[in-house]
Amino acid sequence: MKKISVIIPMYYEEEMVNICYREVKRVLKNIRKYTYEIIFINDGSQDRTLELLEKIAKRDSKVKLISFSRNFGHQPAVSAGLKYATGDAAIIIDADLQDPPRLIPNMLKLWEEGYEVVYGKRKKRKGETIFKLFTAKMFYRILNSLSTVSIPKDTGDFRLIDRKVIDAINTFPEHNKFLRGLYSYAGFKQTEYLYERKERTAGETKYTLKKMVKLASDGIIGFSYKPLTLILILSTILFIISILLFISIFIWHKYYLIFSITCLFSFSTSIILFCLWLLSIYIKRIYDEAKNRPSYIISETKNIY
Ligand code: UDP
Ligand code: MG
Repeated sequence: MKKISVIIPMYYEEEMVNICYREVKRVLKNIRKYTYEIIFINDGSQDRTLELLEKIAKRDSKVKLISFSRNFGHQPAVSAGLKYATGDAAIIIDADLQDPPRLIPNMLKLWEEGYEVVYGKRKKRKGETIFKLFTAKMFYRILNSLSTVSIPKDTGDFRLIDRKVIDAINTFPEHNKFLRGLYSYAGFKQTEYLYERKERTAGETKYTLKKMVKLASDGIIGFSYKPLTLILILSTILFIISILLFISIFIWHKYYLIFSITCLFSFSTSIILFCLWLLSIYIKRIYDEAKNRPSYIISETKNIY
């Protein structure tokens, strides 16, 4: 009998632990064709999340628990789930049930038809701020215009992936992973599954603005060299301006010239600093790879042998 692994990262989700477990368990129990395991990853929460998860893992051997030594982030938490998953396919869902577990059987049907990645595509997002909706929409459009691989718009990490894809993703040694891009990079037979993204069942978003910015920059920097072309464009513009200024020496008044030269000087300096910042983002990533520190540290596991 084939096995399904459901991967659920959790960060400060004490209100959601039991609701999430009950709902996922109810759906999986009704799927008689496959056995299953539920992998919870506690991403360094300091509330009662770990305590509640430990209780569940104690009474249900199908529940595996991985607990991080501190908060490493959502992408490392999903990566750990993929590493320890033993199923023939894995389904990644959020703890807040925004991506409804009751859709799992439909995704499994597409998997049975031969698709190796079934990614959830949001046709509607409920209960999100206008700011989040706008920035998310812009991000997917910008990312796609820059990226070397085509990354489906309006998709998150909610998806089903086949064992072949899990194995492929597990071989990627890079740090600062942007999994949504890596699934596209890996290839395989992929299809979308349209769904309505619900409101968070309880609690508040754990994706702070800082975490969203990190995810967005991991996506863009990890999948595009195009921002570096901006340096060439800016230097060309500056070169043209300085030529025009040189020509104007023979035409305009000298006071006006002194003023424009001062402006050009500060303008060039800010552009040079901006280009240095752009370069530093790429250098930071090279440095992260060179240091080769682990993307997460596990402090405790349950039902993992
Ligand atoms: N999460 C995590 N580590 C983090 C932030 C979030 O494991 O540092 C988990 C969180 O518990 C949830 C999922 O990632 O299961 C998605 O987070 P959230 O629902 O807060 O994000 P949003 O849906 O608002 O983008
Ligand atoms: Mg959410």
